[in-house]
Amino acid sequence: MAQSERPHCHVCDAIQNDPPEREFLRDDLWYAGAAGEQPGWVRFQTLRHGDDWSWGLTTDESARLGPMVRSLSAAIRAATGAERVYIVGFGDNAMHFHMLLMPCYPDTPRDWRGSNLLAHHREIANASEAARVAKAIRAELVAQRA
Ligand SMILES: [Zn+2]
Repeated sequence: MAQSERPHCHVCDAIQNDPPEREFLRDDLWYAGAAGEQPGWVRFQTLRHGDDWSWGLTTDESARLGPMVRSLSAAIRAATGAERVYIVGFGDNAMHFHMLLMPCYPDTPRDWRGSNLLAHHREIANASEAARVAKAIRAELVAQRA
């Protein structure tokens, strides 16, 4: 199905319209960019618009998934001081394999941890801090390649 024949897809839109300062990684299969205005939150998704969200990754997509998630997680931790990086994927409303990476800090309240963190996305949002952290994540990714 040609892209023009597809129903609207917010993931394809985001990949095509993200400004450069929100982009972290892009190759011929995968894209990672800043998610919302939450500092250090990263959306990581296939460029390929599939038939569903399922794990129907190609062999090449599968081979790159692990190294790219490792690289993104390390960059998020280095840029934010997070003690760990949560990785979640629900697949309720996008026809791309995708996941969300979110930093969790030593001082993140206990009742905000785990999947509860998503419910606090409005309290976490901070556009200027998200822009500063995005710049730091990009710098970490460049340093990893050096
Ligand atoms: Zn799409």
